[in-house]
Amino acid sequence: MIKKQSDINEIILILQDLYGKKNWKPDISPLDILIKTILSQNTSDLNSFRAFDNLKLKFPEWDAVLNSSLENIEDAIRIGGLAKIKSKRIKEILKIIKEKTGDLNINFLKNWEVDEAKKWLLSLKGVGEKTAACTLIFGFNMPIFPVDTHILRVSKRLGLINDITLEKAHQELKKIFPPHYYYEVHLNLIEHGRQICRSNNPKCLECKLSNYCNYFNKNLILKTIGNKQDNIDHDKLSKLISAKIDLDQLLIELENENLIKRNIGGKKDNLTITELGIAFTNINKRNKQEIIKNLLKIGYKKKELIKLFNISKKQIDKIKFD
Ligand code: SF4
Repeated sequence: MIKKQSDINEIILILQDLYGKKNWKPDISPLDILIKTILSQNTSDLNSFRAFDNLKLKFPEWDAVLNSSLENIEDAIRIGGLAKIKSKRIKEILKIIKEKTGDLNINFLKNWEVDEAKKWLLSLKGVGEKTAACTLIFGFNMPIFPVDTHILRVSKRLGLINDITLEKAHQELKKIFPPHYYYEVHLNLIEHGRQICRSNNPKCLECKLSNYCNYFNKNLILKTIGNKQDNIDHDKLSKLISAKIDLDQLLIELENENLIKRNIGGKKDNLTITELGIAFTNINKRNKQEIIKNLLKIGYKKKELIKLFNISKKQIDKIKFD
């Protein structure tokens, strides 16, 4: 495991705090979920929801889809993109289900082992890991962890997984999170990916997970504080991260809380080391010296502070101690 279990637990709780606890409650049938997920492949949420709504409006029963021409299905789902391929796959899947069960539902999967149920779904053309996992967790609350592009991106940035494929991420992430949290963490990570950890310009300075995030700690701290990546090793990085934990204490020691608050726009409660770095570059020489003095008092080495704050040894040596 890449992160400590205590960090994983913290991430789960922070996400829960931000986006709420989630209890499983299906609002559509498992077969609806399967088809809806197929329609969501390679398109935006909005367009796939519209395609599913159009399909249900035009064909309220799955039997009607099965008995319809491909052109009519294609017309109904056109807004979701890849309508030609998806209409063919949906019709084929409905045909297989009808032949297997004599009916048009997949409720028989309910009593199957999760791996068996997944294997059966994967045997259907057009159903991959994500579609199978979504169908099983949303349709039956089975212990399986679906990974979409938001979850893949956020998990990689946080450092929960290495740079692996979406398929592999399904296997890795399910080992990381406790099964009873799969449903909630899946939904909350997607929400975090949409709102904060966006593909372009993630809002790292607003992000409550930044303490646990490799991307943030490796890239943004270094950029903001003005260090070069190769000038710093992992021990120093963890020291930087742990410095945030001591920050309230540090602020008290510094007795210049107001000054820092002014320089970072009043966000005292969520000061990160990056913000301290920003504040540091904006404050006057006398207070800079005060900060350095206090960082030395809490155990930072002169060499580290030179790199951290981009100052010279001569400047540090000039600082007078009480
Ligand atoms: S700190 Fe940035 S990269 Fe990390 S999870 Fe938050 S928004 Fe994403």
